[in-house]
Amino acid sequence: MSDYFVHESSYVDEDVIIGKNTKVWHFCHIQKGARIGENCSFGQNVNVSNNVVIGNGCKVQNNVSIYEGVELKDHVFCGPSMVFTNDLTPRAKYPKGPLGYKKTILDTGSTVGANATIVCGHSLGKWCMIASGAVVTKDVPDHALFAGVPAKQIGWVCECGNILDENLACSCNRKYKKGSNGLIKR
Ligand SMILES: [Zn+2]
Repeated sequence: MSDYFVHESSYVDEDVIIGKNTKVWHFCHIQKGARIGENCSFGQNVNVSNNVVIGNGCKVQNNVSIYEGVELKDHVFCGPSMVFTNDLTPRAKYPKGPLGYKKTILDTGSTVGANATIVCGHSLGKWCMIASGAVVTKDVPDHALFAGVPAKQIGWVCECGNILDENLACSCNRKYKKGSNGLIKR
């Protein structure tokens, strides 16, 4: 009896680690070598590719493919039908293979809105937020709010998800100041 749940319609390849209390719902495929932490949830039709590493407490909504080269730290939220890539210049005739994949890192607490695209080779900072439909083509600082195509910064967000006021304070009483990569708590 495992201490995680995989719906009977989903496939889990060999050499996969899935942490305690993680739930894999309908029609998912977890590929060989994937490492998934505790307390995660994977909605309907999610693909986790070979050797992908995912931390604890992540939520991946329906219809998301997490390709090789993508890494999720803890408490990352991937909205429904958001898109990752792992090759900046793909050709059907000249496949690069895993050595040609560009890394994409989603740091702790980051959120990607529904239908957004994260172009590979970029990092999403801690607790940043990417608006629905945005196309991210550069690194995102910690706590930054990015929107649009290509995505640009339009504000700052709190760890709780609220947008910060001009003093970098939140109604939840958390307060921030500028740090070396975006905001840090003060
Ligand atoms: Zn807050």
